[in-house]
Amino acid sequence: MRLVLLGPPGAGKGTQAQKLVAKWGIAQLSTGDMLRAAVAEGSPLGLEAKAIMDRGELVPDRLVIDLIDARLDGADAANGFILDGFPRTVAQAEALDALLEAKQMRLDAVVELVVDEAMLLKRVENRIRETLQAGNSVRADDNAEVLKTRLDAYRKQTAPVSAYYAGKGALKQVDGMAPIGDVEAALHAALTS
Ligand code: AMP
Repeated sequence: MRLVLLGPPGAGKGTQAQKLVAKWGIAQLSTGDMLRAAVAEGSPLGLEAKAIMDRGELVPDRLVIDLIDARLDGADAANGFILDGFPRTVAQAEALDALLEAKQMRLDAVVELVVDEAMLLKRVENRIRETLQAGNSVRADDNAEVLKTRLDAYRKQTAPVSAYYAGKGALKQVDGMAPIGDVEAALHAALTS
């Protein structure tokens, strides 16, 4: 199973991706996680990406395309993968098509978690408060101000990616505002239909 999971920040992509990983035995390839690991390591890539991520903007396409290229045929992805947070621009989607073709792979599904943007801010604010109450730290880009920039980037740069896949007849949409278990069931139905 090879799939792309689309949806704005706070839509629950990470949560659903983890469930799919457990269910299908596939790898979760999250460019956000890879970039945060590079920042934590202090690698040249991390140094280039950190300030951009902290502002909530998108890092240059070539950085994430290279990261994904290195992971698509990794040992952990032998059963397939779920792309979480990639592609986020049409250029990334086109690059992904080229990479998959070169590796003689194809996507089984592209699923978008559709959410009400007005509710997202509330959802993320709740997540931040609960995390802090539990005594844990939150991501540097998890605050209302940066979230607005991230949503803006989503609207301008990532929403066209949904249109790109819809144009190929490859897009399935699931209501991301439903309770987590319902979203999981709807995703399962979308992937097995
Ligand atoms: P995420 O954890 O997916 O929300 O990603 C956190 C941040 O990493 C984003 O706000 C971007 O700055 C950066 N990032 C992650 N994936 C991508 C991508 N595919 N293209 C550009 N920037 C990305």
